Amino acid sequence: MEKNIVHQNVELKSFNSWRVGGKAEQFLICDNIAKLALHIKSKKIKPPITYIGLGSNLLIRDGGVKGTIIVMHGGLNKINRDGKLLYAEAGVSCSKLSRFAAKEGFDESAFFAGIPGTIGGALAMNAGCYGSETWEYVKKVLMIDLNGDQIIRNKSNFKIDYREVNNKDESFLGAWFQFPNGNKEDAKNKIKELLSHRKKTQPLNWPTAGSTFRNPKDNFAAKIIEDCGLKGFQIGGAQVSKKHANFIVNLGNASALDIEKVIDHIQQVVLKKKNITLQTEIKIIGEKFGS
Ligand SMILES: Cc1cc2nc3c(=O)[nH]c(=O)nc-3n(C[C@H](O)[C@H](O)[C@H](O)COP(=O)(O)OP(=O)(O)OC[C@H]3O[C@@H](n4cnc5c(N)ncnc54)[C@H](O)[C@@H]3O)c2cc1C
Repeated sequence: MEKNIVHQNVELKSFNSWRVGGKAEQFLICDNIAKLALHIKSKKIKPPITYIGLGSNLLIRDGGVKGTIIVMHGGLNKINRDGKLLYAEAGVSCSKLSRFAAKEGFDESAFFAGIPGTIGGALAMNAGCYGSETWEYVKKVLMIDLNGDQIIRNKSNFKIDYREVNNKDESFLGAWFQFPNGNKEDAKNKIKELLSHRKKTQPLNWPTAGSTFRNPKDNFAAKIIEDCGLKGFQIGGAQVSKKHANFIVNLGNASALDIEKVIDHIQQVVLKKKNITLQTEIKIIGEKFGS
């Protein structure tokens, strides 16, 4: 896809990890921040603007997305050391940040290795695992607003919660991370260990968006879904993973609607059997198509 020009009617299946969804009315990838800001300032791109990273936490509906999808991955890819901090642009993958930090001898960044998204997505979602979360390590961020203006904000400007951050009408262009000093070899070994644990416990050979539902307080969505007997439940090509009940896998021919129907079914069964309202962790965007 040619960079720095606005494309029309772009198929989004290859821009999300579930491999489903319709088209973006407009679509843009910029290879640097200045060009992106210029596009937004020109007011020529159609609102609303939706920034996405690797689409690994995203259900894009079959009817497509109105306005403009701006993809950060493959565009804003700078990563460098900035004194005691690490700076990464929004399109850098979490695994790249993790490996870069390990080489620099920083500790505690290993958890990023297995999160298959970008820094922008991790900031927007406060992504985390194995007891660590993105914002624990953020010092400051570079934002862009609806007018294309850039603003540096400190962590204290945000209300940060479990898989939730209030970035309102601004989006993430990059972040400065502060990790404690550590040992390069230990950091590399930790990454290996965590990746191997994921392989054993998650259906990584199928298209998924990771955990579909947020964990309710003091509970685990996967356990609740499994206890309701829903492992293997299937509509069309979408199935509740037999390996990890909070993952919905695309067996090859799933539509976004199949996935959404499975999500609805899980919510209904869990409410009926356990009196628990499961909330989605994944973000749903776009227009419904079919019924
Ligand atoms: C196999 C698998 C395992 C996973 N494991 C984990 C895990 O352990 N922990 C975890 O937290 N998540 C996990 N996830 C979910 C997902 O990888 C994370 O939520 C990740 O942070 C999403 O990043 P992304 O770049 O793919 O974001 P996207 O899916 O592209 O976007 C997610 C949301 O962030 C917004 N967004 C993206 N970029 C920006 C930006 N630059 N500015 C403003 N908003 C933006 C989007 O609009 C959307 O609302 C997993 C997913 C998969 C497929």
